[in-house]
Amino acid sequence: MEKKDLDWASLGFGYVQTEQRYVSNFKDGKWDEGGLTTDANIVLNECAGVLQYAQTCFEGLKAYTTEDGRIVTFRPDLNADRMYTTAQRLEMPPFPKEKFVEAVKAVVKANAAYVPPYGSGATLYLRPYMFGSNPVIGVKPATEYQFRIFCTPVGPYFKGGAKPLTLCVSDFDRAAPHGTGNIKAGLNYAMSLHPIVEAHKAGYAENMYLDAATRTKVEETGGANFLFVTKDGKVVTPKSNSILPSITRRSLMIVAKEYLGLEAEEREIYFDEVKDFAECGLCGTAAVISPVGKIVDHGKEICFPSGMDEMGPITRKLYDTLTGIQMGRLDPPEGWIVEIK
Ligand SMILES: *Cc1c(COP(=O)(O)O)cnc(C)c1O
Repeated sequence: MEKKDLDWASLGFGYVQTEQRYVSNFKDGKWDEGGLTTDANIVLNECAGVLQYAQTCFEGLKAYTTEDGRIVTFRPDLNADRMYTTAQRLEMPPFPKEKFVEAVKAVVKANAAYVPPYGSGATLYLRPYMFGSNPVIGVKPATEYQFRIFCTPVGPYFKGGAKPLTLCVSDFDRAAPHGTGNIKAGLNYAMSLHPIVEAHKAGYAENMYLDAATRTKVEETGGANFLFVTKDGKVVTPKSNSILPSITRRSLMIVAKEYLGLEAEEREIYFDEVKDFAECGLCGTAAVISPVGKIVDHGKEICFPSGMDEMGPITRKLYDTLTGIQMGRLDPPEGWIVEIK
């Protein structure tokens, strides 16, 4: 298979149309057989449920080339699980988990020419999503849905090394207790656009959201979970029912314990404690870990001892180990790496 002639290392995080995508339709109470198509466009009725009441959800995962030249994805079964839970919360018919993983494999295989080569730092980003497609005007769930997966090659997240970010504590809330913060719904992102545009205008890379009920506990940013390292080398991450269960974060907690022999704990984290941590990072599929150097709370600065030049030492070990597993340089735990044949 001949690779596309793309300048992999200078790709950004944007949409590059590839050849094939997967489509399946839900109608009369069941999902159809589903399959690949070359048609990148969707034609919808003007009254489609997704356009009126935002009945839509998504996932994100990557395919890449390992050191020994295999094309793999990372824990796609967890994306299937999470989308299943998300769909249930939004009264959408969950897409069968096994079919989800098969569809991921089919899309990657059909677009293998777009999977960036090992060492380029680029990856193939996959976007599964689902939406209500039939006309809905009274407020109720749609009765017809479309599930799709497209893929797009994306460049290295950090061009020229990972520089620590500066965040600000947001005055907005991301998610209500007992709301939709724990599912990957488009609606959580629509409402985060105004806070992130404001934060960028003020010179910050991301917002740190606190719990909406008491504004004393750390939640997450608009699209990544927090991970902290204590001064005695323990990895801690916020526990909350209103944050999205990041697959990267859950994997890093296992890496911390099983590969690095560190203590790792998921617990409530009070904002007051943040100033005492040694390192801070943001976890998500896009960057694996983005180091955080500084958090500004209404003019008061919290500067982590790891500084503004590079990742903290434990964050670095976590990053190197997880990316080593993903790129086939280290032995993975059972089931983490799914090869596309
Ligand atoms: C997708 C997402 C994450 C990261 O999850 P991963 O599974 O690690 O990619 C974190 N927070 C929010 C709000 C998200 O939507």
